[in-house]
Amino acid sequence: MSTQRKAISLISGGLDSMLSSRVIMDQGVHVEGINFFTGFCVEGHTHAIRKKDKQKPKRNNALWVAEQLGIKLHIIDVIEEYKQVLLNPSHGYGQNMNPCLDCKGFMVRKAYEWMQENDYDFIITGEVVGQRPMSQRRDTMPVIQRESGAGDLLLRPLSALNLPDTKAEREGWVRREELYDFSGRSRKPQIELAAKFGFEDYSQPAGGCCFLTDKSYSDKLVDMWAHRSSREYELDDIMMLKVGRHLRPRPHFKLIVAREEGETHFLEGYRKQFVHLLCKSHSGPLVLVDGKLNEDDRQLAAQICARFGQGREADEVEVEITDLSGKIEVLSVKPMPASEIPQDWYV
Ligand code: SF4
Repeated sequence: MSTQRKAISLISGGLDSMLSSRVIMDQGVHVEGINFFTGFCVEGHTHAIRKKDKQKPKRNNALWVAEQLGIKLHIIDVIEEYKQVLLNPSHGYGQNMNPCLDCKGFMVRKAYEWMQENDYDFIITGEVVGQRPMSQRRDTMPVIQRESGAGDLLLRPLSALNLPDTKAEREGWVRREELYDFSGRSRKPQIELAAKFGFEDYSQPAGGCCFLTDKSYSDKLVDMWAHRSSREYELDDIMMLKVGRHLRPRPHFKLIVAREEGETHFLEGYRKQFVHLLCKSHSGPLVLVDGKLNEDDRQLAAQICARFGQGREADEVEVEITDLSGKIEVLSVKPMPASEIPQDWYV
């Protein structure tokens, strides 16, 4: 009796990894999923916070995909190790702060380690030749195999027919003729295959699988690094970049202004760690201060805070500033007119 082979599948939560897993499962291979939590890929997180996203499902797509496939998912926290990937990518960044090629190599390497520790036979990904400008090009796909150490134990079922055969195919663990030859940016073949499998609901991330491909997010990250003595970061730092309006009126401080109730609730969780402002005489958003306020800055920060509250047209608004010790100072200020807030204050 032949042994059932086992594959570990990198599950991002998108359609491609869902399809590639299913293709291999249909060949009788035991498949389990693996998902790496870097801190940048919390898609359901902002949907859960913001009202405007309330139509979007509040779910962890990787878990959801695993559930649809009926497979086990291993979620691995790589926040610490990922810092080196983001801070010093040997292949550089993509259009924004996304180090996709290093990131893919890192994730496949982690999957390879997992595969060896857990006695699995090979790794699968949903990569498609030519689909992404950095990590999924014909010339960069072998780089991932080489730098991850996985070599020919890495199989890309959706594009396998465009690539040299791998051990899984040579050893007959999977039938190569039942794999696919997808290439390029068109999503049509994936959508057709999804229909064939009866997958109707799936996530189709447009720019990539994490926030680092997002320009606005990347701008905030670069700004944060530019105004700190080191580029080191903690999970809270990178979570905060996903939330609120960020304004930097002076190099030594930034204001994070909640845009709606959901964000106010989220930022409330950080009140003890940040000096914060709140309109007292009118309703208004919670504003956190990232940095230090001197005496002049307090007035300025209060005026900006008032500008984003219901009292924006009032002659005077009372704003409470709470220090880290819990000491509260109330300032009466004239809200800053929108026209006086320079565009380059918005990060
Ligand atoms: S989009 Fe983000 S998670 Fe995906 S490969 Fe690029 S850097 Fe990594």
